[in-house]
Amino acid sequence: MLTIVALLSTLFASPAISCSDSSWITNSQLCLGSPQVWEARPSPGKGIGVYATRVIEPGDTILSEPAMIHITPPEFRDGVPYLLGDINTLLQSSFDALSPQQKAEVMSLHAHMSPTEDANDTLMAIMRSNAYTTGNSLGLFPKGARINHSCRPSTSQYWNPQLGRRIVYANRRIEEGEEISATYIPLLYSHKARQRRLDQYGFKCTCEACALEHGARQASDQRRQDLQKAFAAFEPQLTLSVPQSVAGKRKARKRAEASVQLVEQLEEEGLADYYVKAYHIAAIAHAKIEDWKPATLWANKGFETSLLADPNALSAGARELQALTNHLIIKWNAELRENATR
Ligand SMILES: [Zn+2]
Repeated sequence: MLTIVALLSTLFASPAISCSDSSWITNSQLCLGSPQVWEARPSPGKGIGVYATRVIEPGDTILSEPAMIHITPPEFRDGVPYLLGDINTLLQSSFDALSPQQKAEVMSLHAHMSPTEDANDTLMAIMRSNAYTTGNSLGLFPKGARINHSCRPSTSQYWNPQLGRRIVYANRRIEEGEEISATYIPLLYSHKARQRRLDQYGFKCTCEACALEHGARQASDQRRQDLQKAFAAFEPQLTLSVPQSVAGKRKARKRAEASVQLVEQLEEEGLADYYVKAYHIAAIAHAKIEDWKPATLWANKGFETSLLADPNALSAGARELQALTNHLIIKWNAELRENATR
Protein backbone atom coordinates (compact mmCIF):
# COMPACT_ATOMS: atom_id res chain seq x y z
CA MET A 1 0.00 0.00 0.00
CA LEU A 2 2.86 2.33 0.81
CA THR A 3 4.14 1.89 -2.71
CA ILE A 4 0.89 3.20 -4.15
CA VAL A 5 0.72 6.12 -1.70
CA ALA A 6 4.31 7.11 -2.49
CA LEU A 7 3.65 6.78 -6.19
CA LEU A 8 0.46 8.84 -6.02
CA SER A 9 2.25 11.63 -4.21
CA THR A 10 4.78 11.95 -7.01
CA LEU A 11 2.53 11.32 -9.98
CA PHE A 12 0.59 14.55 -10.03
CA ALA A 13 3.04 16.91 -8.44
CA SER A 14 4.31 19.88 -10.43
CA PRO A 15 5.45 19.18 -13.99
CA ALA A 16 8.76 17.36 -14.38
CA ILE A 17 10.61 20.42 -15.60
CA SER A 18 14.02 20.99 -14.10
CA CYS A 19 15.18 24.59 -14.22
CA SER A 20 18.69 24.69 -12.88
CA ASP A 21 18.48 28.48 -12.55
CA SER A 22 15.36 29.64 -10.70
CA SER A 23 15.47 33.02 -12.43
CA TRP A 24 14.25 31.26 -15.55
CA ILE A 25 10.93 30.38 -13.97
CA THR A 26 7.95 32.50 -14.90
CA ASN A 27 4.28 32.50 -13.96
CA SER A 28 3.67 30.01 -16.72
CA GLN A 29 5.97 27.49 -14.94
CA LEU A 30 8.19 27.37 -17.98
CA CYS A 31 11.89 27.91 -17.92
CA LEU A 32 12.36 30.54 -20.53
CA GLY A 33 15.97 29.89 -21.32
CA SER A 34 18.93 31.67 -19.87
CA PRO A 35 20.91 33.76 -22.33
CA GLN A 36 23.99 32.21 -20.74
CA VAL A 37 23.10 28.62 -21.58
CA TRP A 38 24.17 28.70 -25.22
CA GLU A 39 26.29 30.63 -27.67
CA ALA A 40 26.46 30.65 -31.47
CA ARG A 41 29.90 30.19 -32.93
CA PRO A 42 31.55 28.54 -35.95
CA SER A 43 30.96 24.80 -36.22
CA PRO A 44 33.54 22.92 -38.33
CA GLY A 45 32.02 22.07 -41.72
CA LYS A 46 28.59 23.44 -40.78
CA GLY A 47 28.97 27.23 -40.78
CA ILE A 48 27.55 28.43 -37.47
CA GLY A 49 26.47 26.12 -34.64
CA VAL A 50 24.96 26.52 -31.18
CA TYR A 51 27.03 25.34 -28.20
CA ALA A 52 26.20 24.78 -24.55
CA THR A 53 28.06 27.21 -22.30
CA ARG A 54 27.30 25.04 -19.27
CA VAL A 55 25.78 21.66 -18.45
CA ILE A 56 22.13 21.57 -19.54
CA GLU A 57 19.89 19.05 -17.78
CA PRO A 58 17.06 17.09 -19.47
CA GLY A 59 13.94 19.25 -19.66
CA ASP A 60 15.80 22.56 -19.34
CA THR A 61 14.66 25.14 -21.84
CA ILE A 62 17.43 26.24 -24.16
CA LEU A 63 15.51 28.69 -26.29
CA SER A 64 12.12 30.33 -26.00
CA GLU A 65 11.74 32.40 -29.11
CA PRO A 66 8.91 34.34 -30.76
CA ALA A 67 8.73 34.12 -34.55
CA MET A 68 10.49 37.00 -36.27
CA ILE A 69 8.45 36.27 -39.39
CA HIS A 70 5.08 34.64 -38.81
CA ILE A 71 2.70 34.10 -41.66
CA THR A 72 -0.48 32.14 -42.21
CA PRO A 73 -0.61 30.91 -45.77
CA PRO A 74 -4.08 30.88 -47.30
CA GLU A 75 -5.80 27.50 -47.04
CA PHE A 76 -2.83 26.02 -45.23
CA ARG A 77 -3.66 22.60 -43.82
CA ASP A 78 -1.54 21.08 -41.09
CA GLY A 79 0.57 18.21 -42.44
CA VAL A 80 0.05 19.19 -46.09
CA PRO A 81 3.10 20.60 -47.85
CA TYR A 82 2.64 24.29 -48.54
CA LEU A 83 3.24 25.95 -51.88
CA LEU A 84 5.95 28.52 -51.35
CA GLY A 85 4.78 30.49 -54.39
CA ASP A 86 1.50 31.21 -52.58
CA ILE A 87 3.18 32.81 -49.61
CA ASN A 88 5.66 35.03 -51.42
CA THR A 89 3.62 38.22 -50.99
CA LEU A 90 2.90 37.55 -47.32
CA LEU A 91 6.55 36.77 -46.74
CA GLN A 92 7.81 39.93 -48.41
CA SER A 93 5.41 42.24 -46.53
CA SER A 94 6.28 40.57 -43.21
CA PHE A 95 9.99 41.01 -43.99
CA ASP A 96 9.51 44.66 -45.02
CA ALA A 97 7.99 45.41 -41.58
CA LEU A 98 11.18 44.28 -39.75
CA SER A 99 13.82 46.62 -38.34
CA PRO A 100 17.15 46.85 -40.23
CA GLN A 101 18.80 44.74 -37.51
CA GLN A 102 16.11 42.06 -37.76
CA LYS A 103 16.38 42.05 -41.55
CA ALA A 104 20.12 41.51 -41.26
CA GLU A 105 19.55 38.62 -38.83
CA VAL A 106 17.10 36.95 -41.22
CA MET A 107 19.34 37.45 -44.25
CA SER A 108 22.33 35.96 -42.42
CA LEU A 109 20.58 32.56 -42.20
CA HIS A 110 21.46 29.62 -44.41
CA ALA A 111 19.66 29.59 -47.76
CA HIS A 112 19.81 26.44 -49.84
CA MET A 113 19.15 27.67 -53.39
CA SER A 114 18.14 25.44 -56.27
CA PRO A 115 20.10 25.88 -59.54
CA THR A 116 17.16 27.73 -61.11
CA GLU A 117 16.94 30.35 -58.32
CA ASP A 118 18.73 33.69 -58.20
CA ALA A 119 19.35 36.41 -55.60
CA ASN A 120 15.69 37.49 -55.80
CA ASP A 121 14.71 34.13 -54.37
CA THR A 122 17.00 34.34 -51.33
CA LEU A 123 14.28 35.26 -48.80
CA MET A 124 12.10 32.41 -49.99
CA ALA A 125 15.05 30.01 -49.83
CA ILE A 126 15.81 31.16 -46.26
CA MET A 127 12.21 30.49 -45.28
CA ARG A 128 12.23 27.08 -46.98
CA SER A 129 15.50 26.14 -45.28
CA ASN A 130 14.62 27.36 -41.79
CA ALA A 131 10.88 27.80 -41.15
CA TYR A 132 8.78 25.65 -38.83
CA THR A 133 5.06 25.06 -38.78
CA THR A 134 3.29 26.62 -35.81
CA GLY A 135 -0.23 25.26 -35.83
CA ASN A 136 -1.66 26.55 -39.10
CA SER A 137 1.09 29.09 -39.65
CA LEU A 138 4.73 29.21 -40.60
CA GLY A 139 7.29 30.80 -38.34
CA LEU A 140 10.91 31.81 -38.79
CA PHE A 141 12.95 31.64 -35.58
CA PRO A 142 16.42 32.95 -36.38
CA LYS A 143 18.10 31.89 -33.13
CA GLY A 144 16.73 28.35 -33.19
CA ALA A 145 17.59 28.13 -36.88
CA ARG A 146 21.26 28.23 -35.87
CA ILE A 147 20.95 24.81 -34.22
CA ASN A 148 22.40 22.24 -36.59
CA HIS A 149 20.78 18.94 -37.50
CA SER A 150 21.64 15.56 -36.00
CA CYS A 151 19.97 12.19 -36.56
CA ARG A 152 20.45 11.67 -32.79
CA PRO A 153 19.44 15.14 -31.58
CA SER A 154 19.97 16.45 -28.06
CA THR A 155 16.92 18.74 -28.16
CA SER A 156 13.24 18.54 -28.93
CA GLN A 157 10.98 21.48 -29.73
CA TYR A 158 7.35 22.53 -29.69
CA TRP A 159 5.22 25.56 -30.45
CA ASN A 160 3.53 27.06 -27.37
CA PRO A 161 0.47 29.00 -28.64
CA GLN A 162 -0.24 30.49 -25.18
CA LEU A 163 3.20 32.11 -25.02
CA GLY A 164 3.43 32.63 -28.78
CA ARG A 165 6.89 31.09 -28.64
CA ARG A 166 8.76 28.12 -29.98
CA ILE A 167 10.39 26.26 -27.12
CA VAL A 168 13.56 24.22 -27.62
CA TYR A 169 14.47 22.02 -24.63
CA ALA A 170 17.14 19.44 -23.83
CA ASN A 171 15.88 15.89 -24.24
CA ARG A 172 19.01 14.55 -22.53
CA ARG A 173 21.94 15.94 -20.54
CA ILE A 174 24.11 18.21 -22.70
CA GLU A 175 27.69 18.79 -21.60
CA GLU A 176 29.34 22.19 -21.35
CA GLY A 177 30.98 23.00 -24.71
CA GLU A 178 28.96 20.37 -26.59
CA GLU A 179 27.26 21.40 -29.83
CA ILE A 180 23.48 21.43 -29.38
CA SER A 181 21.52 19.61 -32.08
CA ALA A 182 17.96 19.29 -33.39
CA THR A 183 16.39 17.23 -36.12
CA TYR A 184 15.07 18.68 -39.37
CA ILE A 185 13.48 15.39 -40.54
CA PRO A 186 11.64 12.28 -39.24
CA LEU A 187 14.29 9.86 -37.96
CA LEU A 188 12.93 6.31 -38.33
CA TYR A 189 14.71 5.86 -41.65
CA SER A 190 18.00 4.38 -42.81
CA HIS A 191 21.12 6.51 -43.18
CA LYS A 192 20.65 6.58 -46.96
CA ALA A 193 16.98 7.63 -46.75
CA ARG A 194 17.81 10.34 -44.20
CA GLN A 195 20.54 11.77 -46.44
CA ARG A 196 18.04 11.91 -49.31
CA ARG A 197 15.59 13.87 -47.16
CA LEU A 198 18.34 16.23 -46.05
CA ASP A 199 19.18 17.07 -49.66
CA GLN A 200 16.49 19.79 -49.48
CA TYR A 201 18.67 21.56 -46.91
CA GLY A 202 21.80 21.20 -49.03
CA PHE A 203 24.12 19.25 -46.76
CA LYS A 204 25.31 15.72 -46.02
CA CYS A 205 24.84 14.76 -42.38
CA THR A 206 27.95 13.72 -40.49
CA CYS A 207 26.33 13.31 -37.06
CA GLU A 208 27.38 10.53 -34.71
CA ALA A 209 24.70 8.18 -36.15
CA CYS A 210 25.74 8.91 -39.76
CA ALA A 211 29.46 8.68 -38.95
CA LEU A 212 29.25 5.16 -37.46
CA GLU A 213 31.52 2.58 -39.06
CA HIS A 214 29.82 0.31 -41.61
CA GLY A 215 28.67 -2.53 -39.32
CA ALA A 216 27.39 -0.26 -36.55
CA ARG A 217 25.61 1.92 -39.07
CA GLN A 218 23.88 -1.10 -40.58
CA ALA A 219 22.75 -2.09 -37.08
CA SER A 220 21.46 1.44 -36.48
CA ASP A 221 19.63 1.41 -39.84
CA GLN A 222 18.05 -1.93 -38.98
CA ARG A 223 16.92 -0.69 -35.56
CA ARG A 224 15.32 2.44 -37.04
CA GLN A 225 13.49 0.48 -39.72
CA ASP A 226 12.41 -2.14 -37.14
CA LEU A 227 11.15 0.67 -34.91
CA GLN A 228 9.06 2.15 -37.69
CA LYS A 229 7.50 -1.27 -38.38
CA ALA A 230 6.92 -1.88 -34.66
CA PHE A 231 5.13 1.46 -34.21
CA ALA A 232 2.91 0.65 -37.20
CA ALA A 233 2.16 -2.84 -35.84
CA PHE A 234 1.28 -1.56 -32.35
CA GLU A 235 -0.86 1.35 -33.54
CA PRO A 236 -4.14 -0.59 -34.04
CA GLN A 237 -3.63 -2.39 -30.69
CA LEU A 238 -3.86 0.70 -28.47
CA THR A 239 -7.02 -0.27 -26.60
CA LEU A 240 -7.37 -1.58 -23.07
CA SER A 241 -9.29 -4.73 -23.99
CA VAL A 242 -7.89 -7.88 -22.37
CA PRO A 243 -7.81 -10.93 -24.66
CA GLN A 244 -9.80 -13.89 -23.33
CA SER A 245 -8.58 -16.83 -25.43
CA VAL A 246 -5.44 -18.80 -24.58
CA ALA A 247 -3.93 -17.92 -27.97
CA GLY A 248 -4.86 -14.25 -27.52
CA LYS A 249 -3.27 -14.14 -24.07
CA ARG A 250 -0.09 -15.79 -25.42
CA LYS A 251 0.08 -13.24 -28.22
CA ALA A 252 -0.49 -10.39 -25.75
CA ARG A 253 2.41 -11.61 -23.58
CA LYS A 254 4.70 -11.60 -26.61
CA ARG A 255 3.52 -8.09 -27.47
CA ALA A 256 4.27 -6.89 -23.94
CA GLU A 257 7.83 -8.23 -24.30
CA ALA A 258 8.10 -6.61 -27.74
CA SER A 259 6.96 -3.28 -26.30
CA VAL A 260 9.85 -3.30 -23.83
CA GLN A 261 12.24 -4.06 -26.70
CA LEU A 262 10.73 -1.14 -28.60
CA VAL A 263 11.57 1.19 -25.70
CA GLU A 264 15.08 -0.27 -25.35
CA GLN A 265 15.82 0.10 -29.07
CA LEU A 266 14.60 3.70 -29.07
CA GLU A 267 16.71 4.57 -26.05
CA GLU A 268 19.70 2.85 -27.64
CA GLU A 269 19.24 4.98 -30.76
CA GLY A 270 18.67 8.08 -28.59
CA LEU A 271 15.46 9.07 -30.39
CA ALA A 272 13.76 11.05 -27.64
CA ASP A 273 10.99 12.46 -29.84
CA TYR A 274 9.43 8.99 -29.95
CA TYR A 275 9.70 8.11 -26.24
CA VAL A 276 6.18 9.20 -25.21
CA LYS A 277 4.62 7.09 -27.94
CA ALA A 278 6.72 4.05 -26.95
CA TYR A 279 5.94 4.40 -23.21
CA HIS A 280 2.25 4.63 -24.06
CA ILE A 281 2.50 1.44 -26.12
CA ALA A 282 4.35 -0.36 -23.28
CA ALA A 283 1.66 0.73 -20.79
CA ILE A 284 -1.18 -0.59 -22.95
CA ALA A 285 0.68 -3.80 -23.82
CA HIS A 286 1.15 -4.59 -20.10
CA ALA A 287 -2.44 -3.62 -19.28
CA LYS A 288 -3.59 -6.18 -21.85
CA ILE A 289 -1.88 -8.92 -19.82
CA GLU A 290 -3.16 -7.37 -16.56
CA ASP A 291 0.38 -6.78 -15.31
CA TRP A 292 -0.66 -3.59 -13.55
CA LYS A 293 2.59 -2.47 -11.93
CA PRO A 294 4.69 -2.14 -15.13
CA ALA A 295 1.61 -0.87 -16.99
CA THR A 296 1.21 1.94 -14.41
CA LEU A 297 4.90 2.80 -14.37
CA TRP A 298 5.10 2.97 -18.19
CA ALA A 299 1.98 5.15 -18.37
CA ASN A 300 3.37 7.48 -15.71
CA LYS A 301 6.72 7.65 -17.50
CA GLY A 302 4.87 8.58 -20.69
CA PHE A 303 2.88 11.24 -18.85
CA GLU A 304 5.95 12.74 -17.19
CA THR A 305 7.87 12.75 -20.48
CA SER A 306 4.95 14.42 -22.25
CA LEU A 307 5.12 17.24 -19.68
CA LEU A 308 8.53 18.24 -21.05
CA ALA A 309 6.76 19.50 -24.18
CA ASP A 310 3.47 20.34 -22.51
CA PRO A 311 4.12 21.45 -18.91
CA ASN A 312 0.49 22.17 -18.09
CA ALA A 313 -0.81 18.94 -19.68
CA LEU A 314 -3.03 20.86 -22.08
CA SER A 315 -2.73 18.52 -25.05
CA ALA A 316 -5.07 15.61 -25.68
CA GLY A 317 -2.08 13.24 -25.64
CA ALA A 318 -0.89 14.36 -22.18
CA ARG A 319 -4.42 14.25 -20.75
CA GLU A 320 -4.92 10.76 -22.16
CA LEU A 321 -1.73 9.53 -20.49
CA GLN A 322 -2.75 11.16 -17.21
CA ALA A 323 -6.16 9.46 -17.34
CA LEU A 324 -4.53 6.15 -18.28
CA THR A 325 -2.12 6.40 -15.33
CA ASN A 326 -5.07 7.10 -12.98
CA HIS A 327 -6.97 4.13 -14.35
CA LEU A 328 -3.98 1.81 -14.00
CA ILE A 329 -3.24 2.96 -10.44
CA ILE A 330 -6.75 1.88 -9.46
CA LYS A 331 -6.20 -1.52 -11.08
CA TRP A 332 -2.80 -1.97 -9.43
CA ASN A 333 -4.16 -0.86 -6.08
CA ALA A 334 -7.04 -3.38 -6.34
CA GLU A 335 -4.54 -6.12 -7.13
CA LEU A 336 -2.44 -5.24 -4.06
CA ARG A 337 -5.53 -5.24 -1.84
CA GLU A 338 -6.59 -8.59 -3.20
CA ASN A 339 -3.13 -10.08 -2.62
CA ALA A 340 -3.09 -8.69 0.94
CA THR A 341 -6.37 -10.42 1.83
CA ARG A 342 -5.27 -13.82 0.55
ZN1 LIG B 1 22.93 12.14 -39.33
